[in-house]
Amino acid sequence: MIAHLINTDVGNRGVLGVYLYYRRRNPNFLHNSAKILLNNYEHVLIVTGFPIPPTMVPETDGPPGALALAKAIQILGGRVEVLTYPEVGRALRPFRVDFVENPDVSNYSLVIAIETPGKAADGGYYSMSGAEITRETFDWAVTGAKELGIPTIGIGDGGNEVGMGRIRDLIVRHVPHGDMIASVVETDELLLSAVSNWGAYGLLAEVSIQLGKNLLEDWDEEKAVRAMMDAGLIDGVSKGLTPTVDGISLSVHREIVGLLKLLVDEVLG
Ligand code: ZN
Ligand code: ZN
Repeated sequence: MIAHLINTDVGNRGVLGVYLYYRRRNPNFLHNSAKILLNNYEHVLIVTGFPIPPTMVPETDGPPGALALAKAIQILGGRVEVLTYPEVGRALRPFRVDFVENPDVSNYSLVIAIETPGKAADGGYYSMSGAEITRETFDWAVTGAKELGIPTIGIGDGGNEVGMGRIRDLIVRHVPHGDMIASVVETDELLLSAVSNWGAYGLLAEVSIQLGKNLLEDWDEEKAVRAMMDAGLIDGVSKGLTPTVDGISLSVHREIVGLLKLLVDEVLG
């Protein structure tokens, strides 16, 4: 149910086709991701930030999800650091999260990538429309962690993000420009969602159910998204400086979070 909800293709961007096939191939991706998080939250590196061509200003999808994950990991008693672009760092700083610039990935018990460019087959990095991303990328942190056997989770919504290497064939088949933009970077588990922030919230909902405590209780979606906009992050679809994510109104994001909170309460009773 949670997996379905976070894959509701409100923006009609093609994730539905990928989701239907992916769900059959890996029906427990949400459950598995939650298990990985609960077993390895001791010291977590979260990688986030997606620069949008042509300005290369990072978008509002990703950082709110990263923030929600960081706050939940702190509540669980884990340490967490965020690797991201300076603008995203400025947007997140008022929320008191720790940042790291050149992390030694061997120091971490888990690496989570949420909405950040992953290398494509030709070695480039691409937007959903096939424009090249001409800015520093951070997928090396995930590749490095994988080489060391450190658990990794990827969260994405388009096919061009870290983690999508696991389902490159589905991206090629169901997403426009898939052959060009699909990332080859794999993670141990891939959490697919219609909006990457929703992927993070869905993961926290599932973790909450496994844990018996609602970790989404205090999450304020409006506050987070508005803070991203105030710091200059743009909507990745409309490219406007608006309190929206992936071209979808704030009210929809708020209601999705509200529904996830209610679902967790319903299950926990
Ligand atoms: Zn995306
Ligand atoms: Zn997105």
